[in-house]
Amino acid sequence: MKHNTPLARPDINEADIEAVVAVLKSSRLSLGPKLNEFEQDFASYIGTKHAVAVSSGTAALHLCIRALEIKDGDEVITSPFSFIASSNCILFERAQPVFVDVLPGTLCIDPAKIEAAITPKTKAILGVDILGYLAEWDAIKVIAEKHGLLLIEDSCEAIGTTKDGKLSGTFADCGVFAFYPNKQITTGEGGMVVTDDEKIATAVRSMRNQGRNEESKFLSHDRLGYNYRISDINCALGISQLKRLPEFIQKRSAIFDWYEESLATLVDLVRTPMRQSGVEVSWFVYVVHLADRFGASDRNHLISYLKENGIGCNKYFPSIHLQSFYRDMFGYKEGAFPVSESASSSGIALPFYSNLSQEEVVNICNVLHNGINSLL
Ligand SMILES: *Cc1c(COP(=O)(O)O)cnc(C)c1O
Repeated sequence: MKHNTPLARPDINEADIEAVVAVLKSSRLSLGPKLNEFEQDFASYIGTKHAVAVSSGTAALHLCIRALEIKDGDEVITSPFSFIASSNCILFERAQPVFVDVLPGTLCIDPAKIEAAITPKTKAILGVDILGYLAEWDAIKVIAEKHGLLLIEDSCEAIGTTKDGKLSGTFADCGVFAFYPNKQITTGEGGMVVTDDEKIATAVRSMRNQGRNEESKFLSHDRLGYNYRISDINCALGISQLKRLPEFIQKRSAIFDWYEESLATLVDLVRTPMRQSGVEVSWFVYVVHLADRFGASDRNHLISYLKENGIGCNKYFPSIHLQSFYRDMFGYKEGAFPVSESASSSGIALPFYSNLSQEEVVNICNVLHNGINSLL
């Protein structure tokens, strides 16, 4: 029997649907009570003083860059192994992303390589908790303090990851989350900035709504702002999904174990994701890496083979510095960040979402097995 398994799928239940319908019936569709409730629930879950909800993770990143007053001529150190938004948000303000290669295991920025990239123009470090792993924030913080740099934590893929009881998103001056339908929780589209810094929170709150001064009278604008608002419809879904997050994390963790078990026999051919010591990872995706003996055409062949067999999969991630417009703007070439590039050229993301059954995981691994055997 041919299965059809997507790469990702949101987990929407009756409670989620009812929450959305209730907002539609209330006629308060935006800037209503669900916005405040979502922000309060989120801040109390994450453990920060402030949470400000916006229209996407990318909008949240952009507003962090603006709130920290990063501008034309500034440099921001960041990871080349990420979703492109974590670097684009720096370009939005005409600042320059300065990439530093990643660690081979977690694929988060390598703190040992950061100092060599610092110049008098460096203003901040934007670390990414990629795939659910936690970046080495203790080491990054030491460097930031020594050089007087600001810190932004892109935790869009790591909601619920904890270290010593402290949640991801809380390790920098401000943290960012995203709620696109492939993330651990979804609002359809949406994002969140979390911070303990009142000034950052106030600036983000104002800029998401046209630069309005919330205390002053209607249509009084203090600063350049945007429409990065999130509707109450989306927030109602977020409130409901956040309640279910512990269940999602637990299910994803079980799926991670099933994959690991089913792929154990491929140990010399496929590298499965590592476990991060001292960190409880909230898994975002399941990425396997083909062994060095396989080349680019092998991976393409395997991806086609998986897709022909009804299994959603993808290359994950292409390194940002090798995207065509980054090459054009900055002249980057292959070889600049070998760890990131090696991960980019060998990784395949397999289906990963909370309602994936063990039977499906076993089937996916069997197909992968057959596909790899056909390459040998
Ligand atoms: C998803 C994601 C974002 C952006 O989120 P959107 O809501 O799609 O704008 C940013 N950074 C990383 C690492 C992501 O995975």
